[in-house]
Amino acid sequence: MSGTAEVVIGDRAERSAAAAGGSMRALMLVADRKIELREIPAPPEPASGEVQIRIKAIGLNHIDVWGWRGMAFAKRTLPLIVGVEAAGEIARVGPGVTSCRPGDRVVAYGALTCGTCKACRAGRDNLCENVASMMGLHVVGFGPELVNIRSRLELPIPHDIA
Ligand SMILES: [Zn+2]
Repeated sequence: MSGTAEVVIGDRAERSAAAAGGSMRALMLVADRKIELREIPAPPEPASGEVQIRIKAIGLNHIDVWGWRGMAFAKRTLPLIVGVEAAGEIARVGPGVTSCRPGDRVVAYGALTCGTCKACRAGRDNLCENVASMMGLHVVGFGPELVNIRSRLELPIPHDIA
């Protein structure tokens, strides 16, 4: 461990985690082509419409490699928590979330889609034309032990998949 890192999770997250005093490990890109496992503050309780996922596995997507290499379009501020795709289980649900409950196994969709365009409203976020950013490439990804995301960006893992 390299000690506590300063990570852009958002003021709300940093204040709440600091108040709770919890910490967790996160896989972070600290410089081009240099990844470290660091200790960071745990996220706060999920907000309304959010879920908190306990990450069990992250994939190595080609986007992760682009970010690791520091390719020109991978505009981000380092250090950055990496991890573009992940699977895990629901740890907590925020107010108003009825699509899942703690313990459910899920995969997470890392594109921060608009949620309001025709494609998003039809549940086809992968066709969204207004993607704000990509988790793990531009903003905090799925590299920490716990991640809060909008509940509509998680999908249940079918029971017959081990
Ligand atoms: Zn959209």
